Amino acid sequence: MSKKKPVLYLVIPCYNEEAALLQTIERLKQKMADLLQENKIAEGSRVLFANDGSKDKTWEIIQEQHHKDKLFTGISLSRNRGHQNALLAGLMTAKKYADVVISLDADLQDDIDAIDEMLAKYAEGAEIVYGVRSSRQKDSTFKRVTAEGFYKFMHLMGVEVVFNHADYRLASKRVLDELENYHEVNLFLRGIFPLIGFKSEVVYYERGERCAGESKYPLKKMLGLAWDGISSLSIRPLRFITALGLIMAGLSALVLIYSIVVKVLGNAVSGWTFTVCSIWLVGGIQTFSIGVIGEYIGKIYSETKRRPRYCIAESLIEE
Ligand code: UDP
Ligand code: MG
Repeated sequence: MSKKKPVLYLVIPCYNEEAALLQTIERLKQKMADLLQENKIAEGSRVLFANDGSKDKTWEIIQEQHHKDKLFTGISLSRNRGHQNALLAGLMTAKKYADVVISLDADLQDDIDAIDEMLAKYAEGAEIVYGVRSSRQKDSTFKRVTAEGFYKFMHLMGVEVVFNHADYRLASKRVLDELENYHEVNLFLRGIFPLIGFKSEVVYYERGERCAGESKYPLKKMLGLAWDGISSLSIRPLRFITALGLIMAGLSALVLIYSIVVKVLGNAVSGWTFTVCSIWLVGGIQTFSIGVIGEYIGKIYSETKRRPRYCIAESLIEE
């Protein structure tokens, strides 16, 4: 081994996870004990929950577990800020104490046995290890189709993402120190990590079912995340508009030729249908284009304010 045993922090964002949490805690306790016993991680490794303004008993459960066992610790955001912000809050907190951090979901859909392989890649020198789903058999067809469509669409739109990688990943302290320099408010972490660079590796695992409770990522949130990813990391939609403008200009040249021909043939009064259609078509394209530009201006607007991305209301970490 090229590196000494690292202090590992597992960072888990939680939003209304009371149904899944106890089960998750049991399994993680076992996993951390095994890792410790197999000499893969150092004493002082922890599981850090980032409570994302849950409205149920999530935070109470975390506090109670912390009092029972110091392996579990947590922070609580002042309100719901969304998965990405809660995760960031957890990562930024954990990096103060950890050598290496692995982020995962509270429902343990991501196979925790992949952690061993992630740590092995880290020991071999990787600074980021992406967990990639090798199959999604356990997801509903709808979730699978929308989620895979999500990655393909992101790619088409010019965002560099690792296919079928969500936020199950290992990152070293060094990488997280770099992440701190990315100040965007519209956060799309899985697009930012590839930008940070450093030696990275991939680990494959099978995605299981949610252990309890319901998905906190309905289609609406997923679309929101996709749009955040595209508009924060790519200007390709703006390029499409330019291309559309060029195509329209080409078409209008054809229309010009057409109308001259009609004129020469002496049928110039006809063409009402054509006029009306063009008005609607051009109007539609213009409105849509302005909308896309507006979206980017909206992003600039929210980025320039540089508001904090989260606020930690409570913390169980003892210095
Ligand atoms: N989550 C969060 N804040 C939110 C929504 C979700 O912290 O506003 C957390 C949630 O508790 C879970 C993770 O993000 O740990 C992923 O959510 P979920 O498993 O519901 O998403 P799915 O696997 O269905 O895409
Ligand atoms: Mg899940």
